[in-house]
Amino acid sequence: MRMKGIALSAILEQGATRRRKSPPKEECPKKQKRDCWRKVNNWFERLECKRTKDIFYYVIAAVLNKCESKRTLDEARLLESQPDVVKQILERRKRNVEYKERVLETEDDPEVIERKALKLAQAIAKANHLIVYTGAGISTSAKIPDYRGSQGIWTLLEQGKDIGEYDLSLADPTFTHMALFELHRRGILKHVLSQNCDGLHLRSGLPRFSLSEVHGNMYVEVCKQCKPNAEYWRLFDTTQFTARHYHKTNRRCRRCGGPLIDTIVHFGERGQLKWPLNWAGVTPHTEKTDLILCIGSSLKVLRKYTWLWATDRPIKKRPKIFIINLQWTPKDKVSTLKINGKCDEVMKLVMKHLNIDVPLYNRLKDPIFAHATLLLADEQHTASQPMLKKITAAKEESTEELITNEREKEIKAEPNA
Ligand SMILES: [Zn+2]
Repeated sequence: MRMKGIALSAILEQGATRRRKSPPKEECPKKQKRDCWRKVNNWFERLECKRTKDIFYYVIAAVLNKCESKRTLDEARLLESQPDVVKQILERRKRNVEYKERVLETEDDPEVIERKALKLAQAIAKANHLIVYTGAGISTSAKIPDYRGSQGIWTLLEQGKDIGEYDLSLADPTFTHMALFELHRRGILKHVLSQNCDGLHLRSGLPRFSLSEVHGNMYVEVCKQCKPNAEYWRLFDTTQFTARHYHKTNRRCRRCGGPLIDTIVHFGERGQLKWPLNWAGVTPHTEKTDLILCIGSSLKVLRKYTWLWATDRPIKKRPKIFIINLQWTPKDKVSTLKINGKCDEVMKLVMKHLNIDVPLYNRLKDPIFAHATLLLADEQHTASQPMLKKITAAKEESTEELITNEREKEIKAEPNA
C-alpha cells in the first residue's frame, strides 16, 4: 500500500512522525435520528403538496366540466383566481381531442375524392420529376396489416390486443403497386421510397435501382462478411427467428460460410445495409423532385428526414406534396392536397384521368421467382414459413381466363377487328 508516493511501512518505521488525520467521529445517534425525521417530514410535505395540487387541479377540472350557467358564485371566483391552472387544463383537453382526431380514419365523400383525384392526375401529368413515398396503407388491400391504422399492429399492441397471425405468402402486389410500376415504366415516376418490408414493390416488377426499401425486405437476407454484401432472395419470410437487435437467420453464406442476416430495420435501430435500403438511391431524386406523392403513410417517421422534403430550398422552390392517407399526417398542413381515401380507390381514379391502363399483377412475371435462391437439402430445417408459390393450378386457370378476356376486349376495341 502506498500513500501519496510514500510506502506506509516507511512512515511506520520513522516513528509515525507525520501528523495523521484523526478518524471521522461517529455521528451522534440523536443527530442521525433528527436528520432521518427531517427527511421523512420533507418527503411527507412534498407528497402533501403534490396531493393538494392534484386535488386542487381535480376540483377546478370538475368546475370546468359544469355548464357556465350552473356554476356557483364561489366556483366562478375559484376559476377567476386560478387563470394559469384553468389555461393548463383547457390546453391539455385540446391536445387530447387533437390526438384522438389524428388517429381516426376519415374518408372524404366520393365526389370530393373524384375532384381531388383529378387534381392529382393533372399534377402528375405536369410534373417533371415525380417521386413517391409509400407506407403500410398501400398494402392493406393485400391483406397485410398496417402499423398505425385503426387495426394496425402498433395500435392493437398499444391497446393490449392480440395481433393475430398473417400468412404474408398469400399477399400479392395491389392495384397501387402495379400503378406505380406502370408510371415508372413510362418514365413518369422516377423513384419510390417505401417503409414497407413486404417486398411487394419489388415483386410488382419495379427495378431495384428505382426503389429504396428503407426498413428492409423480408424476402432478402444478406452476408455482411462478403464485400460487397452477398444478397439472397428467398421465397419465404426470412425473419422467422430474428428480432430487434438479433438478425441472424440460421443460414450461412454459400460464398464465404459467414452467417446470413435479415435486412429488417426495427424501431430504435439504425439501418446500415446498402441494399435493399438504398438511401443513396433516393438522395439525388430529392434534389430534383418537383412533386412528392405520399401514399398510405402516417409520415411520422419520414418527416424526421428533412432532406426528403427538400426543406433546404427556398419555400417557393420546394416540391409540391400530395398525400393519400386515411389518417392525419404531420405534413397535411404543408401539402398542396390531402386526399382522405383508400389508396387503391384513389389511384384507380387517378390512372383513369391519366388515361393509363394498369397491368394486372401476374405471378408468372414476378421477378422474385427468377432471382430467388432455393434452399439446399441440408438447409430445409432452417425455415418452416409458407413458401411463395409461382402459381397454383386454380390460379393458373383464372390467370389464363383473365388474359383471354383481356385479349378478347382488346380485339373488340380494335376498329379493324
Ligand atoms: Zn459471405
